Amino acid sequence: MLPDIQNLMELQQADREILRLKDEIAALPKRVAAIEEKLAGTKAVLEKAKADVKADEASRRKFETAITDLQGKISKYRDQSLDVKTNEQYKALLHEIQFAEQEIRGNEDKILELMINAENREKSVKAAEKELKEETAEIEKEKAEARQRTAEDEKQLAEWNAKRDTARAAVDADLLRHYDRVAKFRRTGLAEARAQKCMGCQVMLRPQTYNEIRGGNILMCESCQRILYFDPAHEVVAEPADAPHRRRRPRPKADAPQAWFYRAEYGEHGEVLLGFDNLGDNSSRRVYDFNTGRQIGDILIREGKYPLAFPEDLTPETIRLNGSWDEAELESWGTEMPMIALDSLHADLQAARTDAGKSHAAKHEAEAVTSEHPAAS
Ligand SMILES: [Zn+2]
Repeated sequence: MLPDIQNLMELQQADREILRLKDEIAALPKRVAAIEEKLAGTKAVLEKAKADVKADEASRRKFETAITDLQGKISKYRDQSLDVKTNEQYKALLHEIQFAEQEIRGNEDKILELMINAENREKSVKAAEKELKEETAEIEKEKAEARQRTAEDEKQLAEWNAKRDTARAAVDADLLRHYDRVAKFRRTGLAEARAQKCMGCQVMLRPQTYNEIRGGNILMCESCQRILYFDPAHEVVAEPADAPHRRRRPRPKADAPQAWFYRAEYGEHGEVLLGFDNLGDNSSRRVYDFNTGRQIGDILIREGKYPLAFPEDLTPETIRLNGSWDEAELESWGTEMPMIALDSLHADLQAARTDAGKSHAAKHEAEAVTSEHPAAS
């Protein structure tokens, strides 16, 4: 391998790691903030539950005071009834007493209702207190982890920065400028030339270009401008396209629990890869940038199997791809699809397009034959 290429490879790896670490460092405070927000919600629930208890206590005191007042009235009426002169006056007082007694019963009922409800109120307070305690413990743990992780990331970042500087210093200045310019727009500035293709953009290279790269020259991809290198360890003997034993691209299974798709347009993101996974009663969706393999947005989980759960993503323009990784492996990717997975999806897309082109050509041929012999139909 040429020394410049060797250094660019190290530089590219350092650049990738630096980006990954910076993203991770930036994401950690956001995660803590999200938990803190949840904590504030639980605190509000607890405050509300406590306020409800207080309000009930105040109501109860109000009803008790009313009862005392009414009892005072009744005893006053009874005293007055001893001095009445007429039967009408006596009846009127008796009526007042009955009315006050009725009001006392009404207040007593309300107090009883509050007492019964008090048990539920108490339960709500206890539950909110328990949740708050658990969440507080959780956030402390998360914060400690975030601090530790950040410190570890910062250390690694410093190491990668040093490696990056070393690699940069060793590369030819013009080549480095070109690498920087392409990497700025495409995130990578270097790509392998393998099986006559640029592995960065999957475009076929001209045979002369490919041979020059194989011969140890540094050339750029005419399509994506990435600096190309050749790794003899990856050399594959290209089979003639029309050889009868050419391996056919396997067709992805319609009922597979995991499915990958390519979309040329995805909102503001352009080309993306979509990965769906059925997980019991739910399904998940991951979106990756087609060129860099970086994850776009968060993993989305919805109820139901993916074809039903994500109908808006599965437009007729999507191209189904071959690919399957178990859930644990997908988890281990973090926010970036590894090169080997990205390469295999890129290669499968290329194969799918080749197949589609062939069947399209075959159809045209068939149509041409038919139109030449209109009498036959
Ligand atoms: Zn290219």
